[in-house]
Amino acid sequence: MNATKRCPHCQQWSTWHHQATDRCQHCQGLLDPAAHQRLLHQQVREEEESKKINITLIEIFPTDSAFTRFWKRIVQGFQLTFIAILSFVLWLIALLAG
Ligand SMILES: [Zn+2]
Repeated sequence: MNATKRCPHCQQWSTWHHQATDRCQHCQGLLDPAAHQRLLHQQVREEEESKKINITLIEIFPTDSAFTRFWKRIVQGFQLTFIAILSFVLWLIALLAG
C-alpha cells in the first residue's frame, strides 16, 4: 500500500515514497519542496566538509631560492602534521560512531 500526498502544485493526489526527490505523477512537480531544499543544502554542506580536508600541499619549485625552499619545507611539515592529526581524528570518529 503506497502512501499518497497531495501535490502542492496541481492539488492532485500522487504516490509518495516519503522521499525528498519524489515527484508528482501528474505535473512532475516536487511533492515535498521543503524536504528537497533541505536535501540540497545537506549535499552542499557535505561537499564543503570534504573540501576542508582536501589540503593541497605547497609546491616547491626547483627555481626557488634556498631561502624560499627552506620556508616551504617548514610549511609542508605543518601541513603534513595537520593532515595526519585530521585523519587520526576522522578515523577515531568513524571508530566511535561505528
Ligand atoms: Zn502535481
